[in-house]
Amino acid sequence: MCTDKSFILLILLLHSVYNLEKTSEVEKAQTASKDKQQTTIFDKIISKEIPADIIYEDDKCLAFNDVNPQAPVHFLVIPKQRIPMLDSVKDSDKDIMAELVLRAQKLAKERLPNGYRLVINNGKQGCQSVYHLHIHILGGRQLGWPPG
Ligand code: AMP
Repeated sequence: MCTDKSFILLILLLHSVYNLEKTSEVEKAQTASKDKQQTTIFDKIISKEIPADIIYEDDKCLAFNDVNPQAPVHFLVIPKQRIPMLDSVKDSDKDIMAELVLRAQKLAKERLPNGYRLVINNGKQGCQSVYHLHIHILGGRQLGWPPG
């Protein structure tokens, strides 16, 4: 049987674990923002130097499940060419940007018939931790708004 005190302690524990996870994501983003021109772990996934749970691949883009999912379905769509972040996208990247969004839409429609969200984190305050452009696709539960 749970007493009031132990229930409050449990809530406090869950709250601090949740905040710890949030903080570490923010910390990762703050560290990563210092070396945004370097090659990233996504380059190694593209070259198959390291494994990933790949769900789609063609000559221009790659989609794989996020290793640290924030929703029951959470995958990433990335370009094979190196574009560090949304801020780096140029007019000449229009075709690849359209390709990525349409690929995200196609994969999401198959997996998430009840709705989903596309996210692009950009820069330090946008909480970007990997400096290779990527679209997050999240769904499989009721998402809240606004995001944190
Ligand atoms: P962002 O914070 O927007 O830069 O997102 C980077 C995402 O990449 C995070 O959600 C990470 O969990 C994810 N990630 C990092 N390394 C890997 C990996 N090896 N395989 C799959 N996802 C990864």
